[in-house]
Amino acid sequence: MTLERRIPSIRSLSVMWSEGITDTEARAAVTTVRDFVKGIHDVCAMYGLILGPTQIRPFGTWIIQAIPRGDPYWGTQWYVESATDRQRGQIIAPRFLELVRREPWQQAMPHFDLAIMEADLWDEPERALGTASDPFVLSACLPGIAAVISVHRLRGIPDLRNRISALRRLIVHNLGHVLEVPAVDRENAVDSVGGERHCANHCVMRHTTGIDHLIALADQERSGPSFCEACRRDLVRSAILQRLSNN
Ligand SMILES: [Zn+2]
Ligand SMILES: [Zn+2]
Repeated sequence: MTLERRIPSIRSLSVMWSEGITDTEARAAVTTVRDFVKGIHDVCAMYGLILGPTQIRPFGTWIIQAIPRGDPYWGTQWYVESATDRQRGQIIAPRFLELVRREPWQQAMPHFDLAIMEADLWDEPERALGTASDPFVLSACLPGIAAVISVHRLRGIPDLRNRISALRRLIVHNLGHVLEVPAVDRENAVDSVGGERHCANHCVMRHTTGIDHLIALADQERSGPSFCEACRRDLVRSAILQRLSNN
């Protein structure tokens, strides 16, 4: 007999994207987030845990009319401008994520944030991909809070289908990190690379070393990015343990 437990929903998930993100990219992002959330609900149900509905809020490129343009948090573009290093021509991911963490509405109602950026992205040197003269990262995240993903380098992938499946995989992988998968205390099948914990199984939480590798993994996971058994267990535990959105 399976005991069913009803627990409140996991926190809502807001999705924003910068100016310049195409309709195709935005649609792929929102669909992927929906699939991801449905996946969590399905996995939890397999463990006898029924989650309340999870709100997905696709804000896109937004502005707040009441905040004067240029003031903190007036709109999506404020995050982009405040976190951009003009000399590098890249968004500095930790700076961007810190702005998200300090959002007044993050304090008022804790939620998860996913941001899709058109501009190139940069993070700590140990996470760099690309060459020494042209380093970048594809994504970065703040576990428990937010992930930021750039389509800048993905747009160099000639085949549209590969481009979209690479974007989907990046989104699911990073939302996994946001939900703290692999769990901090897990010891089996874990790889630590560049300060991030990854899964060593055939799994969407495997580490990628660059764009070609990302395309190859997305291709291997043809039926769609999915979590291995160990990561699924971590997801369920995270859904139970996280401070639930009952405020
Ligand atoms: Zn990762
Ligand atoms: Zn895994």
